[in-house]
Amino acid sequence: MATRGVYVNGLVWNGQRARPADVHVAGELIEAVTTPGVLRPAPGSEIHDLEGGALLPGFGDAHAHPLIGGLEDRYAPIRGSRTVAEVRDRVRAYARAHPRQPFVYGEGFELTIAPGGVFRASWLDEAVADRPVVLRSNDIHTVWCNTAALRRAGLLHLADDPAGGRLDRDPDGTPVGTLREWGAFLPALGLVPPPGPADKALALRRAAQRLAQTGVTWVQDAWVEPDDVPAYLDAARGGALAVRMNLALRADPHTWREQREHFRSLRHEQSDGISVRTVKFFVDGIVEGGTAAMLEAYANAAGCRGLPNWEPAELRAAVTAFDADGFQAHIHAMGDAGVRTALDAVEAAARANGPRDRRPVLTHLQLVDPADLPRFRELGVVAVFQPLWARPDAVMTDLILPRLGDDRGGRQYAIADMLASGATVAFASDWPATRPEPLHILSAAATRGGRLPGQRVTVSRGVGCYTTGTAHLAFEERSQGTIRPGRRADLVHLGSDPTAIDPAALPAVPVRGTWLAGRRTT
Ligand SMILES: [Zn+2]
Repeated sequence: MATRGVYVNGLVWNGQRARPADVHVAGELIEAVTTPGVLRPAPGSEIHDLEGGALLPGFGDAHAHPLIGGLEDRYAPIRGSRTVAEVRDRVRAYARAHPRQPFVYGEGFELTIAPGGVFRASWLDEAVADRPVVLRSNDIHTVWCNTAALRRAGLLHLADDPAGGRLDRDPDGTPVGTLREWGAFLPALGLVPPPGPADKALALRRAAQRLAQTGVTWVQDAWVEPDDVPAYLDAARGGALAVRMNLALRADPHTWREQREHFRSLRHEQSDGISVRTVKFFVDGIVEGGTAAMLEAYANAAGCRGLPNWEPAELRAAVTAFDADGFQAHIHAMGDAGVRTALDAVEAAARANGPRDRRPVLTHLQLVDPADLPRFRELGVVAVFQPLWARPDAVMTDLILPRLGDDRGGRQYAIADMLASGATVAFASDWPATRPEPLHILSAAATRGGRLPGQRVTVSRGVGCYTTGTAHLAFEERSQGTIRPGRRADLVHLGSDPTAIDPAALPAVPVRGTWLAGRRTT
């Protein structure tokens, strides 16, 4: 007989707000949602006392990187360093503690700790000169290397920038140690041997547990290399993962035609909580690195309009081809030119391949030209935002606003406009780029740190973006995102009703428990 449980003595999310109710669960599914006390618990039911708190559908993170997040603690712990000197000290200490490791790798340094976001190899040479040091920024679009790494990667004397990448250089042309975008930094990342499959599976289990602790039950892994798929299937075997995951395989702008058959062979409908339904495209880079593709030049770099990763015609061809293969598109689009190129590609795919329930995704959406806003709803594009990025932090004030200027700076992350346009909006963390907790992210969406009050989203709407919005993106609206009979019992118990308190106080609300298909994960 299926295990049964009843959640009592609390408020239950009904799609708009939390109301007093009992929730009866049988096995993996919600069986009934009733007025408190009207339905007696079936014999043997486990009683979950909500203690006056709120029961919500598990949150769905529409864009994160669990494998990257889970692997991070194998490497030099540079995340959170507030100065270049702090990064250097941590790199030095790690190198001393790992004398036989032929490289030093670390993730998560912030571009704001060096003037203009430019990092010099010589700063790292002071700490470690005898082997390559390769560090990737928290936004994953920038790599900082020491001189040994530049030399070993063949970049030290490289005269011209490689396709799809840019090397910051001294006036005499010498690369300084900052590599932007994949074309530039793949040779440096190649110096770091990948972990084995068992290490990856372990990292995924740990990452899933970390996400479950924040109330997440489903995540879109937004960048998976084909070789890593077996590690996900391994990690999930027998339902061992604390969250379900859909994987997005990254299409390469140069080799996507050769990737196609391989991707088709990896397509996977959900089993053990893993599906492989999606292909990821990085259309452009990031505004703070000057690589997001813009319709007008950056305010502080005459003539520079960013660094698109794809030729528009090539992106149209690739999105159309993977769409014909039955994949969902998940497109990184940061600047207004990147967004337009991505929308054009989605439109081209729909025209070429005809009507289909395809739910294409555009994510980040830092700047959307007003003329493009209605196209999201018209094309059925799901708009995925990372509301934490809309706050006036150091990245925003030191690096982004000088690049955008006043007008564009005041139009960033137009989440409320997107909702008002009728498009489906889903929320995401981009963890480990930024923190994973949905309650922090809902708080940021509702307050925006005091910036752009017209684009604030109420906590109630925000919960919708994090539950039904993501369920739509996931093609799982019949099984997740709502607390209704017949849905999976993916649930999160919060210490209080998130809509009943000051949004600024949301991060302090405790997550008291998370259940995945009726099984308690935290
Ligand atoms: Zn991402």
